[in-house]
Amino acid sequence: MRTPAATLLRTADAVARLGSSPASYAALPKQDLLDALQVISDARRCCDTMTAAIAAELSRRSAPDLGSAGLAQQEGYRTPQAMVEAITGTTKGGAVSIVEVGKMLAETDAVETLKREHPELPAPPTPWQAPIAHAVRDGKVSIAQADAIRAGLGLPTDSVPPEALSEAAIELIEDAITLTAGQLHRRARQLRDDLNDTEVADREKAQLDQQHLKAWKRPDGMVEGKFLYAPEPGAFLLSVLDELTNPRRGGPRFVKEEDRARIDAIVNDARSTERLAADGFLELLRIGADADPGQVFGSRRPAVRVIVTKETLESGDGHGSIQDTGEAVSIGTIRREICSTGTVAVVLDDDGQCVNVGREQRLFTARQRIGLAVRDGGCMWPGCDRPPSWCEAHHINQWKRDHGKTDIADGVLLCKHHHLLLHNNGWDITRTGGKYLLFPPRSISPNREPRHLGTKSRTVQDWNARRHRLRDLHPAPPPEPARLGD
Ligand SMILES: [Zn+2]
Ligand SMILES: [Zn+2]
Repeated sequence: MRTPAATLLRTADAVARLGSSPASYAALPKQDLLDALQVISDARRCCDTMTAAIAAELSRRSAPDLGSAGLAQQEGYRTPQAMVEAITGTTKGGAVSIVEVGKMLAETDAVETLKREHPELPAPPTPWQAPIAHAVRDGKVSIAQADAIRAGLGLPTDSVPPEALSEAAIELIEDAITLTAGQLHRRARQLRDDLNDTEVADREKAQLDQQHLKAWKRPDGMVEGKFLYAPEPGAFLLSVLDELTNPRRGGPRFVKEEDRARIDAIVNDARSTERLAADGFLELLRIGADADPGQVFGSRRPAVRVIVTKETLESGDGHGSIQDTGEAVSIGTIRREICSTGTVAVVLDDDGQCVNVGREQRLFTARQRIGLAVRDGGCMWPGCDRPPSWCEAHHINQWKRDHGKTDIADGVLLCKHHHLLLHNNGWDITRTGGKYLLFPPRSISPNREPRHLGTKSRTVQDWNARRHRLRDLHPAPPPEPARLGD
């Protein structure tokens, strides 16, 4: 086996023979030129691998528990990564990759050395990252690619065993030759998602919990802010911003005549693209704040497309993905989206050719939504006070049974939060006559004790109360039904 030191010595000799200026390379025969490139590339990979291993050792000697006695700390750096960044001249992210890949190399090497030198001892299991460490050492993947695979695949858990991650890593290493680090990272995350669907739902929930939006006033009176959104709502936000500034960024080339004026206006606007986005965003908030809370939006829905196979949708096993970003989306979120926005069926044949694109199946019309808004008065979830404009229409018959048939009696308004909770956590709503019952999952109520869902509309509540009073006074006949909304 050739050691890194031997490779570097060989390189030094070969480079010395080549001469040291572009003029001397101009005189080289073709084969010498190609050999030179090979030798130098080998040496560079060898240097990268050694840099990573050394960075990992530096990190070990700078462990947080050593405090100011740590190596990096003594040299005046806050972290070993900062020290690697400064010395190697790489980026912050590059330094993190070097240290992380170095740790994989060190862990794999430690176990393999122990097994080799002390076969009699009970050996610890080979780290799952071993294939990645080997690929780095053999020059099959760069440091950046190796770290992309490691970070994308994540850590083993009870449901994703180390062996499964090793297998996925081997598959990714084979693809590495044609993929950039960024593409590998995305592919690795997709493979991870394929290994475990509950993780997709759990991650989605954790990401939703991290969502925040903060705005504060600066000393000069300007308002600044920051926010964080999970992939699916985030994709919606991006699509809105896109819509506001689209023609600026190379926008649509083929446009309808009637859109031309709007697009020209945006392209010729003297404001910066960021300024356009800021102004447009505020305008949307203004429109939203002025909107009638008795209206259920929903006729114009976000341009986020989620793709899922019929098989996954019917079985509930698996997940779908956001069309533009490839991010995984849990089956619960997909069902929520379908419940409130409908579907378009796309049929592919065995060769993956598209043979049919069905018509959009919308579940509730704009008129039916107005009816729901009046009847329910907002989110029907017990204790929730979101008005109709915050709500989506949940279809109480599951998508499988409805096939586009939509009766307003089978719709219930739920705010986005409760709609997601319902689809993700196994709640159910059923209807008996005109009454709606909410059934909790067994984890919350072992006997699934149903809860009554009452309207939030003051008008309907008052009318119901009056009807009951009348019924008590005059047991028969029942009063004429009141007409709402006229
Ligand atoms: Zn629903
Ligand atoms: Zn709610």
